Amino acid sequence: MARIAGVIVGLLLAALALAGIYVYQQVSTLEVARVTDDLHAIYGLGSNVGVLRTGEGSVVVDTMTFAMQGREIRERAEALGGPVQIVVNTHYHQDHTHGNPAFSSGQKIYSTEKTLEYLEALDADYWSGDAARTLPSETIDGERTLHLGGKTVRLLELGRGHTDGDLVVLFVEDRTVHTGDLFFNGRYPNIDLEAGGSVREWSATIDRILELDFDHVIPGHGPVTDADGLRAFQRFMNQLAEVGREAERSGRSLEETLANATLDADAGYDVMAIPFVMRLDRDFVIKRAWEEATGNFERVELDAERDE
Ligand SMILES: [Zn+2]
Repeated sequence: MARIAGVIVGLLLAALALAGIYVYQQVSTLEVARVTDDLHAIYGLGSNVGVLRTGEGSVVVDTMTFAMQGREIRERAEALGGPVQIVVNTHYHQDHTHGNPAFSSGQKIYSTEKTLEYLEALDADYWSGDAARTLPSETIDGERTLHLGGKTVRLLELGRGHTDGDLVVLFVEDRTVHTGDLFFNGRYPNIDLEAGGSVREWSATIDRILELDFDHVIPGHGPVTDADGLRAFQRFMNQLAEVGREAERSGRSLEETLANATLDADAGYDVMAIPFVMRLDRDFVIKRAWEEATGNFERVELDAERDE
């Protein structure tokens, strides 16, 4: 009996070790894709990162999930575009911000005011101690245009969707927009109602992105695409908003809504899942649409004093 237990424990340990190796590989594997001569996207476990080369160093948009990834991103960015001058966090989620501590303290890090408030309110443990030095240092309410080494970078707060503090980054000369998580390309989106996200308002926010002048789109997740790719995602969000409106009109329960939702713009969408943590699939997005429509969620309370 003891021997069998020993074998089982051994097998479990081996499985854990394999899982550990797998996660380590996922975390340490980054893939670089060229968007233009001066602009690259880095894919990895977490958000898509944008790296712009300017005449005076590089601009990095989002930093993925782990400090270890942040270090790799910083090294890649230095190789692609010179010393990192500016970091941007499109929103507060950990898969876009937790690489920040790999950057030097004193690094200019931009985000919206809202994003900084959410980081402090919802992720305070991570941002304590040394990490606090790489919280966003420059916050925006509305819009900011940065000029660096012959390049123009516009930081734009265009409305609610994924959260209510998302930043869109327009690389003017490279005719590319980094949407952060206002766009999941070919996969089901996370919708953070608690942090002001909105299925209802998401499509109008995409309209404002589409008014910008660009050829390429770096989404928060999924491959780089163009305006048509973004429009395809907008069609999906419009259908999902209609699911919410229908739930509101009919007073349907969540179960009825899940059973009757009409969605087809998600054909071929990938499911993103972290076992036991979250699963971004069809049922998840329909549930979020229903929760927004029926008020079945709890908005995060932010410190009111900071709102002025
Ligand atoms: Zn996100």
